[in-house]
Amino acid sequence: MSEPAWPLPWLQEPWSQLLRARKADRLPHAMLFVGPQGVGKRLMSTAFSKSLLCREGAEQACGVCDACVQFENGSHPDFRFLQPDEKTRNFKIEAIRQLGQELSLTSQYGGFRVAILEGVEGLTEGAANALLKTLEEPPKGVLLMLLTPWPGRLMATIRSRCQQVRCPAPDSELAVPWLEQLGVSNAAVALAEAGGAPLLALELCAQTELPQLLRDLLPKVVSGQLGVAAAAKLFESFQARELAAAMLASLESESLQQGEALANGLEIACLGGRRPAQTVFALRDRIIAEHRFDPTGLNQQAALERLMMLVARGR
Ligand SMILES: [Zn+2]
Repeated sequence: MSEPAWPLPWLQEPWSQLLRARKADRLPHAMLFVGPQGVGKRLMSTAFSKSLLCREGAEQACGVCDACVQFENGSHPDFRFLQPDEKTRNFKIEAIRQLGQELSLTSQYGGFRVAILEGVEGLTEGAANALLKTLEEPPKGVLLMLLTPWPGRLMATIRSRCQQVRCPAPDSELAVPWLEQLGVSNAAVALAEAGGAPLLALELCAQTELPQLLRDLLPKVVSGQLGVAAAAKLFESFQARELAAAMLASLESESLQQGEALANGLEIACLGGRRPAQTVFALRDRIIAEHRFDPTGLNQQAALERLMMLVARGR
């Protein structure tokens, strides 16, 4: 399944709102993006950040200038992306304080300094108060974008200092073809299961479609019924990294189920064929190496083929 990319057709209205404000030189210091989980708030705010920091100054980031390259590899000095702590689901006060300090410094490139805070419903009172300090005296050239599905859980004092950007879920007439284009079968069902949020539907499908595809196709690759290149072609709507991760997950659970045979150096059934224990460990290492490799663009197909080659060799 392909990764979704900006633009998302159903967020054209809020996107135009951002562009108008920018063009009129009336960007606020803080904006609150409100919309359901999986509607594309992160994608839109990230695209907007990138375009603000791009050297070309156009509506869409050029993607090739040094600022865009830095943005892509996560090293742009004037951009921060913050999420709540995974375990507590809350923002750490220190993280918010540090952000405030960083934003008060001058921009490295003399342009905007931008920060996205995703899941701001996870701001505790302490963290919210720390953020409020930055919102009350916003440093010049700073843009904060706060993202949440639940604005009601934010302190009113924070809400009132942010300009709201509504990001509604799309009509299914818009979302279903979009999902189909990205390789989702049963798009209408998937969308309904995700409560109408297309990106969530995509995520849920990636979690279930790939393992099923592996179960269907790998035995054919092992038996030689399906060639390596042809098999790679059938996986082309997925990233090689996704495929490697799904293969690892599958191998892991198969190894666990047949742990005793594996420990005794016997053959086990895994990734569509029967393999001696020795081969299983070597296979696992090779897939891990492919997973780390994470190729981009044109190299995707070659990486998919290498993964299929690993499977085929286990005959
Ligand atoms: Zn650029």
